[in-house]
Amino acid sequence: MHREIGRSILAWLGLLLMAASFVWLQLLPRLATFPDTTQKPASEQPFAVVVIDPGHGGLDSGTMKAGMVEKDLTLDVARRAERLIQSRGLVTMLTRADDSYISLSARAAIANEQPNCIFISIHFDEAGRPAATGIETYYAARQVSIPERLMSWLPFLQKASLESASSESQSLASFIQEELVAHTQAVNRGTRPQQFFVIANVRHPAVLVEGGFLTNKEDVSKLATENYREQIAAAISDGVGRYRDVLQQQRTPLVVNLPVDE
Ligand SMILES: [Zn+2]
Repeated sequence: MHREIGRSILAWLGLLLMAASFVWLQLLPRLATFPDTTQKPASEQPFAVVVIDPGHGGLDSGTMKAGMVEKDLTLDVARRAERLIQSRGLVTMLTRADDSYISLSARAAIANEQPNCIFISIHFDEAGRPAATGIETYYAARQVSIPERLMSWLPFLQKASLESASSESQSLASFIQEELVAHTQAVNRGTRPQQFFVIANVRHPAVLVEGGFLTNKEDVSKLATENYREQIAAAISDGVGRYRDVLQQQRTPLVVNLPVDE
């Protein structure tokens, strides 16, 4: 008789334990504080902030050729892009708003502090070959993702999150590159994967634009005009706009089909 009571207590304990671990498993994804995009209203932006990163600055002038200084050009284009992106109703943030030195890791950290943003770094190129010309947009094939303390106990989520940030970066790069070529008629050098520190260390969609060669005569004479720099900025803004529209279209059906709790 006592043995039977003991067995049924054990059976009940076993059931309780199963129920408890089921509840714990249900709670687990929520504890990881990943943004649940499906619960956002359709009108909300797919990303809250556009972080614009004018390359170089302060002691770091970047490329200096033909009387042009890369750090000045990047800031000029970034300010133009900022204005145009704001006029789309998006919030922007500059990693530097003046001629100051900001380390690459500090630039990445500015984006990583944001819960939901995209990151666009602006640069101009140089080459040993003076004939090298045109515009290209880079993305990192591997990007950092969620904080390491989570990674230690959720390795599978870390991998999934890493892959999605990188493929979104590639898509953002394509939109911006297409617009750049359409706006400037520059030689299309395409989009390319490259582990540049400043984009590889951002956990959000991140791209790096090389807007022309300061070692190429034609590129330099075009970049010297305000109108051309404005066209580069407009292309970046239009690329961001197209990327946002596509994300919104992808997300809207999810919101519409959600079951309504009453
Ligand atoms: Zn540069």
